[in-house]
Amino acid sequence: MYDDNNVFAKILRGEIPCKKVFEDTHILAFDDINPQAPVHTLVIPKGKYVSMKDFAEKASDAEIAALTRAVGKVAEIKGLNESGYRILANAGVDAHQEVPHLHIHIFGGRALGPMLVRK
Ligand code: 5GP
Repeated sequence: MYDDNNVFAKILRGEIPCKKVFEDTHILAFDDINPQAPVHTLVIPKGKYVSMKDFAEKASDAEIAALTRAVGKVAEIKGLNESGYRILANAGVDAHQEVPHLHIHIFGGRALGPMLVRK
């Protein structure tokens, strides 16, 4: 079940401000409020999708294409294509997904270290 009161739903409705990086019909991208790298931008679909599973099952082909293209666009806008970047989408409890609206993190601007914390 999608929670209409999650923080990204509020950003999409304009109830909470954001530092917008990119927007089109299907997508909004904005800087993370608590950046973990010099560049930390979130790319979200405007539709009500909780997770990648939800999105993969229910989103239209146009929305799915738009999400991928927006990631490329944000990397370009943020000047990351030369230096490189990492994309990440947390889903569910094991991944510590905090906001129940699908979002892709884009990190860059420094060497990002190992992919995962080692146990
Ligand atoms: P998750 O752990 O769900 O993958 O990541 C949620 C992200 O949303 C976190 O990196 C957190 O800093 C970010 N975030 C939470 N609330 C806000 C907000 O109000 N504005 C913005 N721009 N980012 C937020």
